Amino acid sequence: MATHRLALIIQNPSNDDEFLLVKQSRPPKFHDEEYDSFVDSDLWDLPSAQLNPLLAESEPPVELELAVSHSESQDVDLRKFDIRSALNEVFGQLGFGAVDGGGWKFHKYVKEAAFGPDLPVNTVFIVGKLVAAEDKDFRDSYRWKSVRSCLNWILEVKPHGDRVGPLVVIGLINESSISTKWKVPPAINYQEYPPGNIIIPMGSRTLRPFHTTNLVVFAPENVSNDSGENNFIVRGDALIVDPGCLSEFYGELEKIVTALPRRLVVFVTHHHPDHVDGLSVIQKCNPDATLLAHEKTMHRISRDVWSLGYTPVTGDEDIDIGGQRLRVIFAPGHTDGHMALLHANTHSLIVGDHCVGQGSATLDIKAGGNMSEYFQTTYKFLELSPHALIPMHGRVNVWPKQMLCGYLKNRRSREANIVKAIEGGAKSLFDIIVYVYSDVDRRAWIAASSNVRLHVDHLAQQHKLPKDFSIQKFKNTCGLHFLSRWIWAYGSGSLSHQIGKSPFLVAGVLAGIAGIAVLYCQRKFTK
Ligand SMILES: [Zn+2]
Ligand SMILES: [Zn+2]
Repeated sequence: MATHRLALIIQNPSNDDEFLLVKQSRPPKFHDEEYDSFVDSDLWDLPSAQLNPLLAESEPPVELELAVSHSESQDVDLRKFDIRSALNEVFGQLGFGAVDGGGWKFHKYVKEAAFGPDLPVNTVFIVGKLVAAEDKDFRDSYRWKSVRSCLNWILEVKPHGDRVGPLVVIGLINESSISTKWKVPPAINYQEYPPGNIIIPMGSRTLRPFHTTNLVVFAPENVSNDSGENNFIVRGDALIVDPGCLSEFYGELEKIVTALPRRLVVFVTHHHPDHVDGLSVIQKCNPDATLLAHEKTMHRISRDVWSLGYTPVTGDEDIDIGGQRLRVIFAPGHTDGHMALLHANTHSLIVGDHCVGQGSATLDIKAGGNMSEYFQTTYKFLELSPHALIPMHGRVNVWPKQMLCGYLKNRRSREANIVKAIEGGAKSLFDIIVYVYSDVDRRAWIAASSNVRLHVDHLAQQHKLPKDFSIQKFKNTCGLHFLSRWIWAYGSGSLSHQIGKSPFLVAGVLAGIAGIAVLYCQRKFTK
């Protein structure tokens, strides 16, 4: 299952090499001075619109000539889609009125890799010319560009310069082969954006709603004009980041590793199993690979997964992969050893679990997760002004500052709610969660509890908690006290649905829950 979109490659009437790029509309502002002061640079991409299935009873037949000439067209039956409506929508956005062009040709069909949690969005690219497009005023929102000039734009990236979007890259640039000597093994679904960053979502034991961890691979042609610089912590011909797939995908990972050059560097952002489960495969296929990780991360990785040596990193080191530079960024918050990587050529930032493609990330209280460090790392990322964020779960984000500010805003509003709960009399972890997460499924309260504990620590550090709130007493309520109250609340909540279906079962389960709660409390007081 997938949804679809139509992307238009509109050729310049006076120059076949050039096509039309449209300035993409920005996500809405926050209407808060602090967040609105961080502005992503302009993003230019192909015009596109959602492509819906053709409804037989109401739609007129498609009159456009779609000269299907490509073998990929076999993957998609274009007659099933309402191409006319999608074209009209794009032309409306462009201010061209109704469809008056002709001779649209099928160019390419690209299936999106399964990033989740939403359905993949597959793209139909068509190419054609417009009648009288020369008359259009292209000053602000449109530009004619060639593939070559887009490529230069992307690869000679300027820190706050304009950016080229993913549709240009997956529709036009990737096929023009910019320098990858490594070919992704067939049948492996991946995305290359920004160019040079190959992202392969692989099934992993990650937290829902995600099902995959992004394996990021760099394997550029060696374009180094060896400047003699020797300040790299390691040099390699290929790099793999976060091999965290489930064992059923080890075969796929093995194919990837064996297809890569031997001089391989492996980087892990942190120790969670969904980021390191596949290390054993790399150790088996290429024992010469160099593993880079923070010391605190390495101490938490089992020797069953990686028993060879490693190179410790603490941040600010540079890695040379086939002449391309990546900078290691210390990024604690999610865990205390968490690291990120900045790819200098494209200025894309691999953020580990600091951000996820959708929703918010949880912090691991057992592995040094820390809210004030999480805020500091978020500001550090904003200062880096990346052109794209590559999370390990979900899609690449092309509005990095918007996303990072959204995280700051959500965390602050969560903290404001926690203060409100405490001012209203909440003293225990459970009381705070009942107030702050009243509209959230109780099953999620356990995962939320570690973030709330870290928020309370962060508020205490900033002296933002009411004076009569005892941190010590609060901490005493974070263990079994919380668990027993949650079990009772969850049990009675889910049982209220069952009442009427099986009263005997209900009574039995409630008695069981009560027993467990009593046992927990007894254990607590006899310790
Ligand atoms: Zn994690
Ligand atoms: Zn993860």
